Amino acid sequence: MLDIWFTENHTEGYKVSWRIDKILHSERSRFQEIAVVESPDLGRALLLDNTVQTTTRFEFIYHEMIAHVPLMIHPRPQRVMVIGGGDGGTVREVLKHPTVETVELVEIDERVIQVSKEWLPQLSSALNSDRVKILTVDGLQYVKEKAAHYDVIIVDCTDPGGPSLALFTKDFYQDVYNALTEDGIMVSQTGSPTFSPHFVEAVKGIRQVFPCSSPYLTCEPSYIAGFWSFTAGSKKYALDTVNQDRMAAITTRYYTPEIHRAAFVLPKHIQEQIK
Ligand code: SAM
Repeated sequence: MLDIWFTENHTEGYKVSWRIDKILHSERSRFQEIAVVESPDLGRALLLDNTVQTTTRFEFIYHEMIAHVPLMIHPRPQRVMVIGGGDGGTVREVLKHPTVETVELVEIDERVIQVSKEWLPQLSSALNSDRVKILTVDGLQYVKEKAAHYDVIIVDCTDPGGPSLALFTKDFYQDVYNALTEDGIMVSQTGSPTFSPHFVEAVKGIRQVFPCSSPYLTCEPSYIAGFWSFTAGSKKYALDTVNQDRMAAITTRYYTPEIHRAAFVLPKHIQEQIK
């Protein structure tokens, strides 16, 4: 049993630390440092380049909110693409929707998938489903080659940096728009509205491309204290639409239709930020 403290530096002056009992895995892939550690309070955590990606105790909040919000807005989601998301948590939630026929997981780093399969079965077991197609390529390039094909595209990538940097630009959102069907919906994780310098830029980029768009908020204790944001863009449907009858088939621990609508109600200071 170790008594090491993991520290994530968010800004020059703001750090968050929590204790690690065990380092279960550590390696350097072609793209990043990958580690899985055990924490007494967060469960198992996946770290990429020393940044928390997910923890087994709280992952349900993030994964339910990134997946069920767009899927419940769409009347009949059948074809879904997830960019990033190699841990499998988002795909697991997408597969809860019986209308979904195929989920393409477009993850640049094959090692994230393999490490998650070994150490995070609670998330990754969904990747074995025959409705899932895994592509280990750059989502930026992959989405460019597609036209009017997907009902929902979910961008579950790392915070902006390295290969994920371009996934927060207007040009990328335009490619996502083109890859969606005429009533398609996208969602991207857009980080901490408090500490991420890319939050406002991402929200504005999605707004420039989609006729209907908005950030929505949750609190996920594994990440930076306070709000965590996602931003949705829709071609046709209002974002507070919830096809409520479908809830009967879906088991969740955090997401409800009420949470869905409430998440789009933004505090005044965040409304000011994105004006
Ligand atoms: N929930 C997470 C968080 O903390 O934001 C994201 C988790 S998921 C592990 C993020 C994944 O995005 C990583 O495995 C990373 O390899 C992948 N990724 C980054 N840039 C990418 C790109 N351009 N195309 C596809 N996947 C990418």
